[in-house]
Parts: sequence; structure tokens; C-alpha cells
Amino acid sequence: MKISAYPITEAKLSNAGGLDLLLLGCGSAFASTLNQTNILLVKDNHHLLIDCGTRCATALQQVGLSLSDIQMFLITHSHADHIGGLEQAQLTGRYISKNKPSMIITPQYQDILWDQSLRGGVEQSEVGRLTFSDFWNVIRPNPLTGFNRDCWQTSVGSIDIKMFRTKHFPDQAKSWQDSAWSCGTLIDDRILFTSDTRFDPELLEEFDSSFNLEVIFHDCQLFTGGVHTGIEELAGLPKDLRQKIVLVHYGDNWRDFTSLATKAKFHSWGQQGYTYQFN
Ligand SMILES: [Zn+2]
Repeated sequence: MKISAYPITEAKLSNAGGLDLLLLGCGSAFASTLNQTNILLVKDNHHLLIDCGTRCATALQQVGLSLSDIQMFLITHSHADHIGGLEQAQLTGRYISKNKPSMIITPQYQDILWDQSLRGGVEQSEVGRLTFSDFWNVIRPNPLTGFNRDCWQTSVGSIDIKMFRTKHFPDQAKSWQDSAWSCGTLIDDRILFTSDTRFDPELLEEFDSSFNLEVIFHDCQLFTGGVHTGIEELAGLPKDLRQKIVLVHYGDNWRDFTSLATKAKFHSWGQQGYTYQFN
């Protein structure tokens, strides 16, 4: 399908009403020439940042925004290319902008994110020990039933967000249940963003058959193995799925794989610094 995408000149946190998906980066955790795969959704006067890696503040600055402009966050898992910018976000909110941002987060992942990552740099304070909710307005998504994995739903203005568990790490985990906490998102029941996941065709088949997806922004590792989906694995998917896949979270050497991607008839390589417009 045709997807309208154009380079971001100056990003805004409001628009005339369609859904804009700003791809702030399309790189893997180890890419040095690409920003990290963090995305910003905008519709009407509402926005949502999905993931905030170590380089997110710089990626936002490159499109004319500041991290302190961002008031709504959703985090998919605890790797640094997805959470490394949160310490700056929470300290800025409390001590500089004095404007507490919001985060959509399940109780289980809130405990993991706070206890294993965020508390170290901020817990001790001028007024004693602080907790997650001293830095973040907590927004709880509602659990959903009827899916083959744990799912939740919430809304950001008129943006519908569904979250689904994924199997990302460790690599020997047999299922999403055995994996560390990680999730992907379904946006407005039309755009699937896997965030990081190992190859999981059941996930794609379930959501594509339920929602007839328009586009799938899919984790794409340029080799097979480890904790991501390899490009060769994606190339083995049915054609109707391949044609919907925009490759993201790839390495610096992606140009070595352009002929493979063309042959597999993927939709495209995700373009960093572009807005994908869904009217
Ligand atoms: Zn990851």
C-alpha cells in the first residue's frame, strides 16, 4: 500500500486531526550512524512518545523539540535504547520544568522499571526517598481479553493504543511468558509497532487477521539469532505480510541488504527523521 511519508522540518505536538507517526530514529541498540528506534505519535492536540533511549533528547532536538516538551510516554522494555533518556526526563520534570510527565504503564512493568533501572539516580532527594509516582503521573492501561497473549488498551486523546506482550529476551525463552517484560503497540487498530521482538509469526498472524493491519513497523536485525528478528526470517513470511513491513531497528550496514529487501518485497526501510501520515 501507499504510505505517505515526508521529511520532518519542524515537528509540532499538534496537528489538524490525522495520525502522524514521527520516526525519530530507525537504528538498533548498536547503530552509531542512526538514532534509536523511538517514535512520536501526534493527533489533534495529543502526543505520545513510545520509548526514550539514551539519544532521544538529541533526536527530538534534531526535529525542533525538547525532551521537556514531551508529556506522555509509553515504554516497551528496559534496554537502554528504549529507556536511557528517562532519567533526564524525570529529573527535568521535577527540578527544571516543574511539570510532571505522564506514563502509560502496567503495575508489573512499573515495578521492574523503577526497581531495576530508574530509582538509582533519583530516589534519594531533598525530601527523603522518592518513588515512581513522584516523577510520573501514572496512567494504567486496561487489560484486554480475547488475545493469545497479555494485552492492554488505553487512549491518548483519540489515539487508540493497544499493548501486547512480546518475546524479546533472553534468546532461550520459549514464549512471551518466559521472556523478560517487553511489549509492542497497536496504534488505532491499523499500525503495528513491534518494538523489539524475536521472530514471532504467530503475533503477526493474530493481529493481521484480527485487524487487517495497514502497516507493520518491524524490528529488523541484519543477521539471524540473538534477541531480535532477522531480516532473513522476515523474508520467509507470507507475501501479504511482507508487503506491509516497514523495517526499523536495523544496523549501520543496512545498505548491504537493500537487494535482499527489494527481492522480499518489504514495504520499505524506515526513514529516520520522517513523518508517516495516516489520515
Ligand atoms: Zn531491546
